[in-house]
Parts: sequence; structure tokens; C-alpha cells
Amino acid sequence: MKILLIEDELKIADFVLQGFSQVGFETDHFTQGTVGLKAALTGEYDAIVLDLMLPGMDGIEVLSNIRQSGSAIPVIILTAKGDLSDRLIGFEAGANDYLPKPFYVEELIARVKSLMITHKGQENSLLVVGQLSLDRITRRVQWLDHAMVLSQREFTLLEYLMRTPGHIFTRKQILKHVWAIEFDPQTNVVDVCIQRIKKKLNPTNQKNVAEFPIESIRGVGYKIKNVSHDL
Ligand code: CA
Repeated sequence: MKILLIEDELKIADFVLQGFSQVGFETDHFTQGTVGLKAALTGEYDAIVLDLMLPGMDGIEVLSNIRQSGSAIPVIILTAKGDLSDRLIGFEAGANDYLPKPFYVEELIARVKSLMITHKGQENSLLVVGQLSLDRITRRVQWLDHAMVLSQREFTLLEYLMRTPGHIFTRKQILKHVWAIEFDPQTNVVDVCIQRIKKKLNPTNQKNVAEFPIESIRGVGYKIKNVSHDL
């Protein structure tokens, strides 16, 4: 097990390093966000323990960069900022878990182990339609060479469409499945959510739009192109 620790408080880093070495984790430690990110992108780690308040580049930015690179490595956020909004920002940026300071190193070790077990089992969690793949555990989606982590709603919507490629889902069905809304509230939340997914998969709009796997059926709804029929 090789862990990357990005933490600028040396006292905390020391006690984490000690705890990790006692259970046989090999750990590389960096104190700066930018340096830590560079290490994270080498792909040689099994998990990352990341502080939020860091010199240079803060933890959220480090995490966003890791996820934008397409990496689904388990990341635990470690921070003194324990309130809900920070936690939510962390999860939105792609964190797998969160531990507020002060903490017991035993708990951190237990969480790291549990995340790595989940991560190892995730090969079976992959949903693939043509060039589009979706990881049910990390919510990481990839189209062609671009990968991104979806929000919970974006994920639920895309997974719903991908489970039955070629089937046209009406806005009403999508509203019911993703938002649990039974009536037609005359909103465009479905279209807005689809636009967000499109933007995440094709942020610079450079790729061939005709090949885009989500198809809009005018006045009806959406479908995922059925590869065997459409190619
Ligand atoms: Ca710090």
C-alpha cells in the first residue's frame, strides 16, 4: 500500500506517518499543494490523504485537478474546517471520505483501508456504452479521452439513460426517477442537468457533436445512442 499524504502541519503529518508505518503503509509526504498534486498525478499511489488549507494551492483545487485528470484514486480530506459546507464542497470536488481534525490515526487507517477495498471492487461497477463509461462507485464518467466526476443528480440521470441504450426516456420519466417529482412542474431542470453533463464530457466543445452519446429527441426527451444500431 502506497499512500500520498499532503499536509502542511508537521505535527499532524508526523503522527499520521508514524501510524501508517506501524500498519505497513508506505507513505510519501508533501507540505505544498502544487508539489502534492504533481506527485498525485504520477499514478503510483493507492490512496491520498489531503489537507484542505495548504500553502500554494488549496486542497479543493488539488482534488479538482486530480479528478480532472481522470484519476479515480480514493481521496480522504483531512481538515480543521468541519462544517457542512466545506464537507459538501469536498464531496462535490470528488472526495471519497472526510475526517475532521482532531482525529485518531486508527480511524484514519480504518477509513483508508475501507476505501481501498471499495476501490478494488470497482472494476465490476463500470457501465459501458460505446465510448461512454460510467463508474457507479466513484461517479466518474468518461467519453473518448475526457473524464470527469459527476454530481449525484447528474450521475443518477446518466446511469438511468445508460442502463437501456436506445430507449427514449421522456422528461416526465426522468423527473420521476431522478428528482422523485411525479407531476410536470413545467421546469427545464432535466435539460439543464443534461447540459451540465454535456459540458463535463465535452468542455471545450471541440469534439464531433454528431458523435455525442446523449441524443435529444425534440419535444419528447433523451436517449443514449445504441451503439450497435447507430454505427
Ligand atoms: Ca493545513
